[in-house]
Amino acid sequence: MLNVVIFGAPGSGKGTQSELIIKEYGLDHISTGDVLRGEMKAGTELGKIAKDYIEKGQLVPDDLIVSMLANVLDSKKPAAGVIFDGFPRTIPQAKALKKMLNERGTDVSIMLNLQVDEDELIQRLLERGKISGRSDDNLETIKSRLEVYHTQTAPLADYYVEEGKHVAINGMGTIEEIFGRIKEAVNNVK
Ligand code: AMP
Repeated sequence: MLNVVIFGAPGSGKGTQSELIIKEYGLDHISTGDVLRGEMKAGTELGKIAKDYIEKGQLVPDDLIVSMLANVLDSKKPAAGVIFDGFPRTIPQAKALKKMLNERGTDVSIMLNLQVDEDELIQRLLERGKISGRSDDNLETIKSRLEVYHTQTAPLADYYVEEGKHVAINGMGTIEEIFGRIKEAVNNVK
């Protein structure tokens, strides 16, 4: 199985590149942000709890995210592998992911760390906000999401360096250029 963690700040292109990776390698896509937005839309208990965190640009608590992910993973029964988009975002989530995959006889194959300048991130998110209709794509929430990324999520890169899974990807340039760099990295571990 090819299990890819796509990692990077909000606006670094995780969703866009995930779509291309899925097409190229036939992976299942799990985006915790998409799952949470689905729960919010459906008005579930989890959706109601998540809404407050998402609108403040804060992380939803680890225990909720981890049990949600286990359910999604079991319902998908992935064949070729999975791309994890927006998960893990904390060290406990990374450890829980490793345990979940190990229990299913597999592991993370590679972690792609998309690197994009801060000004470009803000620009991209504001542009996306004009069309996404996402309640968290506004300047105030973008700023707290970036702050949360730097303090809580970015340190996770070191965890994957220690695991020998970390690959830094230059996330500046055209979508095709960035995808070319990703393919090179993924083909190395396939
Ligand atoms: P995203 O679509 O990945 O940008 O996620 C949007 C929002 O959903 C984040 O700002 C968090 O509030 C929440 N979220 C998504 N994934 C996670 C996660 N793995 N852990 C905690 N919160 C998450």
